Amino acid sequence: MITKVIKFGGTSVGNISRIKEVANIIIDKANKKQRIVVIVSAMSGVTNDLIKKSQEISTNFSDEEYDVLVSSGEQVTSALLSACLIDKGIKARSLLAWQVPIVTVGQHKNSRIISINSKSINRYLDQNYVVVIPGFQGISEKLRISTIGRGGSDASAVAVAKALKADRCEIYTDVQGVFTTNPDICREAKKIDKISYDEMLEMSSSGAKVMQSTSIQKAMLNEVEIFVKSTFYPKKVGTHILSENKISYDKVITGVAYSIDDAKVTIIGVKDKPGVASAIFKPLNDQNIIVDMIVQNVSAESNETDVTFTVKSNDMNQTEKLLNRLKSELGYKKLITDKNVSKISIVGAGMITHPGIAYKMFNSLALKNINILVISTSEIRISVLIEEKNAELAVKTLHNVFELA
Ligand code: ADP
Ligand code: ASP
Ligand code: MG
Repeated sequence: MITKVIKFGGTSVGNISRIKEVANIIIDKANKKQRIVVIVSAMSGVTNDLIKKSQEISTNFSDEEYDVLVSSGEQVTSALLSACLIDKGIKARSLLAWQVPIVTVGQHKNSRIISINSKSINRYLDQNYVVVIPGFQGISEKLRISTIGRGGSDASAVAVAKALKADRCEIYTDVQGVFTTNPDICREAKKIDKISYDEMLEMSSSGAKVMQSTSIQKAMLNEVEIFVKSTFYPKKVGTHILSENKISYDKVITGVAYSIDDAKVTIIGVKDKPGVASAIFKPLNDQNIIVDMIVQNVSAESNETDVTFTVKSNDMNQTEKLLNRLKSELGYKKLITDKNVSKISIVGAGMITHPGIAYKMFNSLALKNINILVISTSEIRISVLIEEKNAELAVKTLHNVFELA
């Protein structure tokens, strides 16, 4: 008998009638004598609402209690879906993360799954239960409830699939798979049939939230193949995420991703001497602030330089505070920040063997009068930071220029 882990995202379980439709997808599989573990997200909007409530109670809400609070959305969906299945005559039960247990390490709000007791899940699968597990949540080694970062139910599904050595891991969502770019902003976007872990990881970490990036890292490390499918058209073939060596490429660029939650920081007039970059980034590192793109100008003769980098918009205020504290130590002249920026990335394994991709990207943006503020690259990605107001035009332009439609 094959074992399947299937995950349903927030929109897929967004209201009662959708939960009933999800139950029908599950029943169809259970009737085919498949062993089914379901991972569920909170109903759409619920997690955001809980976060808002925490902010209304306190600007300094306890991290431990934050996890207890925000993980509750997934518990609600687990119970609603399990009870719906039972009502339809299916043997089902919920297993909350602490009951499995799904053990995590690391800081609250952003923990990492390190172990899952597969025995407790198998015990119910062996008795023909459909097991429903809330995504996103875990339990820490100190026996506190933890969560694994926004969008984390994808990573829960991959971790459970790995622990159970499942035959298949399917992610059901509100689009028909992974597209060449976000289909919400570009009507010409096309569904990708197969995409490598590496490319998907670059797409996700550059803003394509259809799959959370941690889940792809986990899948890549453990060779868990993923099928992204539509909850609303469950019979349609979605996107298969797998090893690069199982894909034959016919395009240089696979996709265009964008994110609008970046902020740009420029420190004007810092001394150009050893240790300065380290002094700037140490306090950010100590506060777990992730720094993404970085550029430092070469100083001419003045022994001074400017450093520009990006952080997530949410971390902007704290970054500013930390750098203001360093002003006398670093002796810089001015700090400039800008939240109205967007990062646009092109991703494709083909760029390793095809020269001229960067030129083609920059030139097509220039022709649209779009100014590039910062550039960063990896082996299979080129990202540019631009003004946020140009984001949609840039995505559409690049999608067109690289013939993804
Ligand atoms: P779920 O709630 O099922 O986890 P998400 O909202 O996290 O779903 O992810 C699905 C959404 O990702 C889509 O509705 C779409 O808006 C967005 N998205 C961004 N980039 C892409 C892409 N390249 N392909 C498909 N969807 C994308
Ligand atoms: N409910 C969580 C979130 O909104 C986790 C998830 O949906 O994957 O981030
Ligand atoms: Mg998601």
